[in-house]
Amino acid sequence: MLGGCLAFLLSTIAAAVPSALPMRLGDAVRPLSYRLDLRVDPSQPRHSGKVEIAIELMHPSSELRLHAKDLRISSVEFQPERGSARHGRMARADEDSVYLRFARPLPEGRGHLRLRFTGSISDKDVLGLFRQREGGEWYAVTQFEDVGARLAFPLFDEPGWKVPWTLSLTVPQRQQAFANMPPAREVAAGKGWKRIEFKTTPPMPSYLLAFAVGPFDVHTGDAVGGQPQRFMTPRGRGAEATYAASVTPPIVERAQTYFGMPHPFEKLDSLAIPLIDQFSAMENPGLITYAGRLMLARPGQETRTLQRGYVSTAAHEIAHQWFGNYVTMAWWDDLWLNESFASWMGDKITAQVMPQWRWETSAQWARKAAMKGDRLPSARRVRQPVRNKEELGTAFDEITYSKGQSVLAMFESWLGPERMQAGVRHYMAQHAWASATGDQFIAALANGDAELSAAFASFIDQPGTPQLRMTLQCDGAPRLTLTQSRYRPLGAPDAPPALWQIPVVLRTPAGTTRHLLRTLSETIALPDHDCPAWLQPNVGGDGYYRAQVDFPLLVQLLRSGTSNVNELLALLDDQLALAQSGDLSLATVLPLVERLAADPRRELREAALDALEGLQRLVSPAQHAAYAQLLQRNFGPMARDLGWRVKAQDDEDRRLLREMVVGPMADLGQDRGLREEALRLSRAWLAVAAADGRAHPEVLDPGLRGAVLRSAAIDGNASLFDDLLALARATPERALREDLIGALAYFADPTLAARARDLLLDRSLDIRETLPAVLSRQSRVPGLADAALAFVERHDAALRPRMARQAPAYLPGQLGGGCSLESARTLQRLSGPRAAEYDAGPSLLAKTVERLELCAAYREAQGAALQQYLQRAH
Ligand SMILES: [Zn+2]
Repeated sequence: MLGGCLAFLLSTIAAAVPSALPMRLGDAVRPLSYRLDLRVDPSQPRHSGKVEIAIELMHPSSELRLHAKDLRISSVEFQPERGSARHGRMARADEDSVYLRFARPLPEGRGHLRLRFTGSISDKDVLGLFRQREGGEWYAVTQFEDVGARLAFPLFDEPGWKVPWTLSLTVPQRQQAFANMPPAREVAAGKGWKRIEFKTTPPMPSYLLAFAVGPFDVHTGDAVGGQPQRFMTPRGRGAEATYAASVTPPIVERAQTYFGMPHPFEKLDSLAIPLIDQFSAMENPGLITYAGRLMLARPGQETRTLQRGYVSTAAHEIAHQWFGNYVTMAWWDDLWLNESFASWMGDKITAQVMPQWRWETSAQWARKAAMKGDRLPSARRVRQPVRNKEELGTAFDEITYSKGQSVLAMFESWLGPERMQAGVRHYMAQHAWASATGDQFIAALANGDAELSAAFASFIDQPGTPQLRMTLQCDGAPRLTLTQSRYRPLGAPDAPPALWQIPVVLRTPAGTTRHLLRTLSETIALPDHDCPAWLQPNVGGDGYYRAQVDFPLLVQLLRSGTSNVNELLALLDDQLALAQSGDLSLATVLPLVERLAADPRRELREAALDALEGLQRLVSPAQHAAYAQLLQRNFGPMARDLGWRVKAQDDEDRRLLREMVVGPMADLGQDRGLREEALRLSRAWLAVAAADGRAHPEVLDPGLRGAVLRSAAIDGNASLFDDLLALARATPERALREDLIGALAYFADPTLAARARDLLLDRSLDIRETLPAVLSRQSRVPGLADAALAFVERHDAALRPRMARQAPAYLPGQLGGGCSLESARTLQRLSGPRAAEYDAGPSLLAKTVERLELCAAYREAQGAALQQYLQRAH
């Protein structure tokens, strides 16, 4: 599964009271296979079915426990291998599980459990079996990771049980149905209904079972290894899968080449779900599901965001077909095995299939995201025990995905890509179609090297990022002393002592030095004859550590021009982190930011802009003008040169820069000219788009549409608000609606900002489309943040019932755009009392509060340095 950039999925189920029962069912009963028959009509809110589970009882028992949530089980029967069937009854055990009780103990050994049940098909959640309406038609789809299957039917819902599944779906005659496997046959099932029986799957855990029912279009792409690649879209939109169909086959081919074996499952379909709000895609074998906004675009109207998003996500999900699906984690504590690997491999494949994107630098964005999460006092370990749903709920975060990815990248660089690949292939062969643990994976990589195993474990079994201080000594032969500690941002309490075994790779003028740092401090010899003028502390930027080097050495390093893009990105991020920890003054770091802003390489400009945008939270209202000037000095000429219109001669980098730079310069850079031009363009576009509710890319480029409309909205008046809102209500196109609602959130006028908040109460709009857009924007604008908080507090009772079951857990994050202790306290007061109603609710709230506290401390400590710098820049 893959989360968005900011919101990672928490797909667990509400638990108002922690269950007294253990999360795991134990192994007194073992499922061997399932026959599942479901009757699903997407236009109806309920489904029914029967399941026959072949089980083995390890000892006689009159009571079995299995997972079932919000299901009505009407009949319970057990058929032993010998003798007659026995009837039982159901009793609820806890929110997630039931007991099946029998008058006499069931015999030890094998038998079949037969259950009949009914359940509900949610139209708010994207978990379990749910349904969505698109273009007037209903579609029913599943999302079973992590524990959604128990909402659809009773089962033993744990990832370690890998068994064959035989599924059949009884659906209305005119509907189509897809699942992990191809259909074996289709038969009539009474007036107006048909039953589709699917072939039995290879061994699979329950979280990977998937199906979809609805009037889908099927777009067929090129075959890979004899398997056609098919794409399911809502009715009438098959052509919108054209881009996905054109780029998926090479992704599959690259994955096959890396693993040295064909795609393990019988087919590979990709299906677009109209609206997913909390994650982007799911790797179900044979039926990968994607958020529609990520997969679908009219031919010729694919934005760069869609292209990059689809390819990198598809590469992640396709990597899962091996890592996760063919070999599965034994329990959720090794979720990182699935996700770190898929993210690492996905980026590797993306770089191969799209060399023109220079995707190698994405590793630095992963490192940055990982370290940002890892600096928090409450940061999890990559490999974290999962004993309850709160712990499972927190597992889908930047630590599991991005830190795991960065650690894999570091060890690949240390081992060399060939040894890494050999280890991965060995692991696949050893555990084919079975389950495995993190230790087994590390053992396969280390191949008997105990030192390497220990080093790897030191990064995944403890939280935090090592800070590595490098001190040069030149009395005699040049030497470098390396001293490690846990990186601690200002405002964070002291953390317990930590020790990593760090693969350090550094470069001086005489060459590269590799050293595995095992203790707190070690001094190593450098290959240089004379005292080195510069030091590159992290070759390739692959090291998962914050490098702290004497500033003159870095100045000379930059002058030497020997660093590549990834090294400079890591260096910049480390320097900014050292300002946050108080090791450096912001006034020392900002010249580096400005230097990279002037670099011709697009990735460095992007990172410099990101760094300057990040200062926004530290800036007081009185400093706004000076801050805008700092942005203008670095990016103003570029933004005005790029402008809002795509030019035929623009290369890929210029197009990307335009999408990245012009919007922030209109907004934070307060560029009047760009805002006025955005307003003119918006008006011209609205004049044609309002007539038919369509996108009209010939008037406004789809890749710039969102930024143009948002920039126009900042100073926009009520008439612009009304026009954008009218079109948002009228258009059938989700991508368009997303841009329009995003713009409605940007009005700065207090009356219009209040109207934007009222959209959250408007039943004619989907709250999943309005709430994240409006709250995330307003909580970042100093004049509106308090009003946004007050609004949520006042309308809490009206908002929560309309949201997806777990969505309120994200409210603190959506409202946490500020940078003060006061906002931390307000959020605590607002969300604290009800946080425990949501899985991971307390952890998500704690994270946001910590972020605000750290930001406040950073602002307090570096405010004066920033003030001075801004005055100088003014
Ligand atoms: Zn994933």
